[in-house]
Amino acid sequence: MYFNIQRYSTHDGDGIRSILFLKGCSLACSWCQNPESRSAKRSLLFDQRLCVKECNACQKETGAITRSSQDEIVINRTAITEHTLDRLETSCPTQALTVCGEKAYEDDLCDALLRDKPFYIESNGGVTFSGGEPLMQPELVANVAARMHQEGINTAIETCMHAPWKNIEQVLPFVDCWLTDLKHTDPQKFQDWTKGSFARIKSNFQQLAKHGKRIVIRVPVVPGFNDTEKELYEIIDFALSLETCSEIHLLPYHTLGMNKYNLLDMPYHCSDKPLNNPDLLANAQRYAENHPLSAQKLTVTIRG
Ligand code: SF4
Repeated sequence: MYFNIQRYSTHDGDGIRSILFLKGCSLACSWCQNPESRSAKRSLLFDQRLCVKECNACQKETGAITRSSQDEIVINRTAITEHTLDRLETSCPTQALTVCGEKAYEDDLCDALLRDKPFYIESNGGVTFSGGEPLMQPELVANVAARMHQEGINTAIETCMHAPWKNIEQVLPFVDCWLTDLKHTDPQKFQDWTKGSFARIKSNFQQLAKHGKRIVIRVPVVPGFNDTEKELYEIIDFALSLETCSEIHLLPYHTLGMNKYNLLDMPYHCSDKPLNNPDLLANAQRYAENHPLSAQKLTVTIRG
């Protein structure tokens, strides 16, 4: 299952790339800006602002959608089935209701991705697998990435590394660059904010580094979670312990995806203000530069 192919991206790996966004994630990060990607199944989004009062097209399709006495749409999400989603996919004339997620057919995906091959070759770019968590669909990633390699195209993956090692092993031969999240190094705090296991992630990082793959660590810097010097320095220390990691990207927290929680009827538990702490990020850069183990090995950049 996938939900988007974004073309001409320059932020998710080297050069010009196409990004294949896959559905499903094994973590539940409080700050996630793509909540529609969490479920491995299709998701229903509803934007009240686009709904037309005189319309009842969706209610004709299913009894799970009704109008309240205030004339607002009410969705009984527990009663929405796959069959209902099939019907709703094309019923709303204004796109107030949209269904996110499509079945992935490998040949179709490869055809779509290969369309921009000249741009990848010209710019030293390629194809990036993202999500959600692409390692939840290792067979699909391995097959599509292998096909890209046959065409001489570079491949990258954006991953939280929270997956069984066997899934990583399956895609390993076909993925050139690993754009990996490292959110925290304290197991309890990691568990509290993401519902995941840091022990699993740590072990995966250590095994991955032994395979000689290029690792770029990406750190979402989130208020109240890891926005202290101590926490960022511990992340940098961990990165320095990995032989094949030579880059860290610090990603200051933003709130651009917040409205999606309304569209999905999901609660949002993170700050409603973006991170505004340039000194912290600059100090983290200095810490890495001056680290005795660093010696031109690790660069830390701040990304938007
Ligand atoms: S089909 Fe779309 S516009 Fe019509 S009532 Fe439903 S959500 Fe509103």
